[in-house]
Amino acid sequence: MNMQSPPTLPFYHPVARECELFETAYDNGLPLLLKGPTGCGKTRFVEHMAAKLGKPLYTVACHDDLSAADLIGRYLLKGGETVWVDGPLTRAVREGGICYLDEVVEARKDVTVVLHPLTDTRRTLMIDRTGEELVAPPEFMLVASYNPGYQNVLKRLKPSTRQRFLSASFDFPREEIEIAIVAQESRLEPGRVAPLVRLGGHIRELSGMDLEEGVSTRLLIYAATLMAGGMGVTQAIEAAIVEPLTDEPDMQQALRDLVATIY
Ligand code: ADP
Repeated sequence: MNMQSPPTLPFYHPVARECELFETAYDNGLPLLLKGPTGCGKTRFVEHMAAKLGKPLYTVACHDDLSAADLIGRYLLKGGETVWVDGPLTRAVREGGICYLDEVVEARKDVTVVLHPLTDTRRTLMIDRTGEELVAPPEFMLVASYNPGYQNVLKRLKPSTRQRFLSASFDFPREEIEIAIVAQESRLEPGRVAPLVRLGGHIRELSGMDLEEGVSTRLLIYAATLMAGGMGVTQAIEAAIVEPLTDEPDMQQALRDLVATIY
């Protein structure tokens, strides 16, 4: 869990009208679900919006062992005494902050039970262990994300959960925006970023066929950062793009061939 106060505004380049949607959802106390591939800017977007609205942000990276107690809190032994410690969701509700559940489908099923009364008109969080029933203040907002590309039959967000959230699809930004983002984040000049972003576009066309997922904006930023630090293009692309994307020698070679058509 990671709690951030909102001193500076993290850089975020809007891709469509997502900032407006977030603000309207926030103003109306509605939960928001962000769908999209990994590394396309969902987390940065939430960080940016939380800072813009001046709200504390509690980010939880969900995993298959994450249970309702991890979100709500638990009794812990402290210096021989048993004390109740709020989890990130409870803290966000008490303080009127934003709770961001990243990759929410990964979490255990009991998490859904907690989210339902929080995401309808009740806006309540039940803390069974302490017997408390917290009503979320208007400043509280729940944001969740998931990656539809990873979905399998066992890990799907149930319609009864999905239909409690406003939703927005995220995808990799279009070329000129992605060039601006990668240049800003890596400090590599835009003229050298452009071919990298073009390479990214070609690689994404391969995804779904042989590659599980296309190259993320995050990986393009890594490659550009290595290049900005003086590393040669080939070595940078190898370490930041080819190796992270696949373990298959044939697929790696196909990627290198693609690189050769651009560089
Ligand atoms: P996700 O949460 O979708 O996996 P992130 O938000 O962590 O992805 O994005 C990965 C990185 O890509 C960020 O750290 C940021 O550097 C960059 N990034 C992606 N999209 C944007 C954007 N629209 N504006 C600014 N930075 C972005």
